[in-house]
Amino acid sequence: MIWNEQFETMPTNELRKFQLQNLKELVLRVYNRVPFYKEQMDKKGIKPSDIKSLEDIQKLPFITKTDMRDVYPYGLLATDMSEIVEIHASSGTTGKPVVDAYTQKDIEIWSEVMARTLSMGDTTKSDIVHNAYGYGLFTGGFGVHYGARKIGATVIPISGGNTKRQLSVMKDFGSSVLTCTPSYSLYLAEAARELGLDFSKFPIKAGFFGAEPWSENMRKEIESKLHLKAIDIYGLTEIIGPGVAAECECQDMLHIFEDHFYPEIIDPVTGQQLEDGKEGELVFTTLTKEGTPVIRYRTRDITYLNREKCRCGRTSVRMHRIMGRTDDMLIVRGVNLFPSQVEQVLLKIDGVEPHYQILVDRKGALDSLEVRVEMNETLFSDEIRYIENKEKEIEHALKEELLVHSKVKLVEPKSIERSEGKAKRVIDVRNI
Ligand code: ADP
Ligand code: ZN
Repeated sequence: MIWNEQFETMPTNELRKFQLQNLKELVLRVYNRVPFYKEQMDKKGIKPSDIKSLEDIQKLPFITKTDMRDVYPYGLLATDMSEIVEIHASSGTTGKPVVDAYTQKDIEIWSEVMARTLSMGDTTKSDIVHNAYGYGLFTGGFGVHYGARKIGATVIPISGGNTKRQLSVMKDFGSSVLTCTPSYSLYLAEAARELGLDFSKFPIKAGFFGAEPWSENMRKEIESKLHLKAIDIYGLTEIIGPGVAAECECQDMLHIFEDHFYPEIIDPVTGQQLEDGKEGELVFTTLTKEGTPVIRYRTRDITYLNREKCRCGRTSVRMHRIMGRTDDMLIVRGVNLFPSQVEQVLLKIDGVEPHYQILVDRKGALDSLEVRVEMNETLFSDEIRYIENKEKEIEHALKEELLVHSKVKLVEPKSIERSEGKAKRVIDVRNI
């Protein structure tokens, strides 16, 4: 079901006009109000008046996650703080989080794109939306919440965790739509089976899954275990949260809400724009956002664009499901983490060497994280009890930094393979 006929089926030439108008206004606004953008544009010798066509976007500098952290917390703010009504931040990345500050209008936009997203699986005002994305600084919970409210559906803001309770609430309240990470949906299915609950008897018709990569095989598994239509939804805090792109009922690539988020695909090495159909790094410009607008944000997500018309009638460009990343970021249980974060923690702990390996696996439906760390000779010669305490100490420190639990295993000195080139820090054996 199409939520917004006008924008979702807009003829391309009209859409381009709309985008260009907004792009010009955006560039002018950030040039005048955000010192970061002014400096970057001045360095490249670009003035707002140089943006005369959508192609001219290529003249503008990129922004990266590092740039965003450097101006933490409010360096990208393009309005008065008094206009900001809500703040969210990205999960567990190195050092400082990335801040997204929303004006009233930004919350309106977010509600709109999430209403479009949920409508793709035919969510209507008669539905009961079981929202198991985390509420809090994380964008998942609130994004779905606003979209469901906009549609007029009933939201159950259960948030993450407490799986047993999730299942009884789902059953008792008659939830008809499920929203959570794809891996958590499988965990729910597993837990239901153990409790003797039968998902085929639940009235759930659709599930909206995102925040982490998943595959076509995993979709099949989810659909058969939970008896619902599984829809891939994509978003990121830097842009708005969930609601940047989503699959329609055809489940054939994700429609990008390009009247708000202008996509480009670039060669991650040269930064050159690539033509449609070519795989590369996804870049977004927020055309309409007021609070913390971004110009040419490099997502590090790999995909390609397809402008063929979709059978659903929507005219927006589609992107293939995310195929990988250009950096070493891991997404474990929906939380982003980098190997360098583990390293930073280890460097502060006595008795261990910064030689480590991270093993990511999926036990049943849930991601598990094990960190193998080399002891130094002194610790190695200590009593077992002392070594076990050390493991607990490191587990605790890692949890503080990464926000997800990991199991720490101390191993003998020199037992982790040394590499001549780039160390192989991560062994990801998840089969997703
Ligand atoms: P969150 O706090 O929701 O994890 P972040 O902004 O920190 O949000 O993470 C966004 C990243 O999550 C994206 O850049 C992408 O790598 C990943 N992601 C989000 N949705 C999907 C999806 N549907 N498929 C694959 N990866 C996704
Ligand atoms: Zn479609």
